[in-house]
Amino acid sequence: MKAHDGMYIDGDWRPPVGTGTIEVVNPADEQVIGLVPAGVAEDVDAAVAAARAAFPGWAATPPAGRAARIAALRDALAARRDEIAETVTAELGSPLGFAQKVHADLPIAVAGGYAELAATYAFEEKVGNSTVLHEPVGVVGAITPWNYPLHQIVAKVAAALAAGCTVVLKPAEDTPLVAQLFAEAVHEAGVPAGVFNLVTGLGPVAGQALAEHDGVDLVSFTGSTAVGRRIGAVAGGAVKRVALELGGKSANVILPSADLARAVSVGVANVFANSGQTCSAWTRILVDAARYDEAVELARQAAAKYVPGDPHDAASRLGPVVSARQRDRVRGYIEQGAAEGARIVAGGPEAPEGRETGYYVRPTVFADVTPEMTIAQEEIFGPVITILKYEDEDDAVRIANGTVYGLAGAVWSADEDEAVAFARRLETGQVDINGGRFNLLAPFGGYKQSGVGRELGAHGLTEYLQTKSLQF
Ligand code: NAD
Repeated sequence: MKAHDGMYIDGDWRPPVGTGTIEVVNPADEQVIGLVPAGVAEDVDAAVAAARAAFPGWAATPPAGRAARIAALRDALAARRDEIAETVTAELGSPLGFAQKVHADLPIAVAGGYAELAATYAFEEKVGNSTVLHEPVGVVGAITPWNYPLHQIVAKVAAALAAGCTVVLKPAEDTPLVAQLFAEAVHEAGVPAGVFNLVTGLGPVAGQALAEHDGVDLVSFTGSTAVGRRIGAVAGGAVKRVALELGGKSANVILPSADLARAVSVGVANVFANSGQTCSAWTRILVDAARYDEAVELARQAAAKYVPGDPHDAASRLGPVVSARQRDRVRGYIEQGAAEGARIVAGGPEAPEGRETGYYVRPTVFADVTPEMTIAQEEIFGPVITILKYEDEDDAVRIANGTVYGLAGAVWSADEDEAVAFARRLETGQVDINGGRFNLLAPFGGYKQSGVGRELGAHGLTEYLQTKSLQF
């Protein structure tokens, strides 16, 4: 994992215009593991110009030709699976096993899915006396976060390439090394020069320049709601397309008939995976009053199995969080939860024992949480679970829907029909029924302030298409 000191633009690693650099830090030991260039507006200009120049040729490439290049990209990533996992572990801090199974295998599978979709998607349809053409939107500016760094890149780039768009990517400053590795894989896959371009840099500099660029037709952003709101406003002003994947505060609703032990243990695992840095994590467990105390005890016992440890140690289930900033933010929320009257039943704001170096946070469970508390409303983005009590089903719906977010959620019941009926009442983009597993072809995205647009599968592909109707 050697850092490049250039930008990948027009099929080559080019010296940056900006002279600044960004230090990449290993969150497990706080050591600097690489330096990448901090791009400026001129770097973004060069990348957008390359993407514009490449657009007509790529858009005109038959879908089967695009599919072949995306399949080659999938193969290039698969060949470097272990290197991807090592890189994500080094810059994000995920336990290595999780990095292999999720941070590497998931985006490899998503790339494979888009190779197939590019080959099979109906880019033309008949509607009465019209032929409707589904054409690529143009140049895409993709801005991604650090929490699932390769997955978020591939979900945007593979879909955009399948649609016939060209791309400029500005990855998160905390995890640029896997983005550089991705650019190498694009190159190895023989994707034509200019179709994919990479500019590393800071959000308010390179990211903002990309979001505001006149040569970008669609901005696809994943990250915080605060930044997404601004990007949406800029895109609206310029009347350009925008897709926003933002934060979440998802509810894990355990109905009275559900298998409580299973629902709690899967729920705890769902939040503590990736150190709680998952936008779709079920960070609010909702339990009926009769089984509330039992659920709290089960969650306490489950949390005890998550001991913060070195991500390279095979026994570690919980690594550090990504940065000192995130660690301080998460610990601040834990302090605030206690100050607002919630009861800490596991964890707490102090550094975990023996983990004074590295950005570690104690896996924390809060009981006696009420819906209006800050820790029940705001996205904490760390290993913190809140457990809330509901009186009846209507109360559970009201609490579940009672935040500005609506990204994901879970419902558990002994009766699947009852769970589905409940899920229909939730204002959220995804609901897992009785632990239903992640489907990389299902649309992923938010209701309310969790975002605009959908990623993954055919729904993700259509984000990058616009229609033209020919009448006969
Ligand atoms: P962030 O919004 O600060 O950064 C995300 C990306 O935007 C980074 O590449 C960053 O450099 C860039 N950026 C920052 N300021 C910018 C600006 N002014 N203009 C343009 N780009 C800018 O978020 P983060 O701290 O990196 O990520 C954590 C947040 O992202 C959490 O709130 C999380 O829920 C959310 N998230 C959502 C999803 C989803 O799919 N819905 C996925 C992952 C993360």
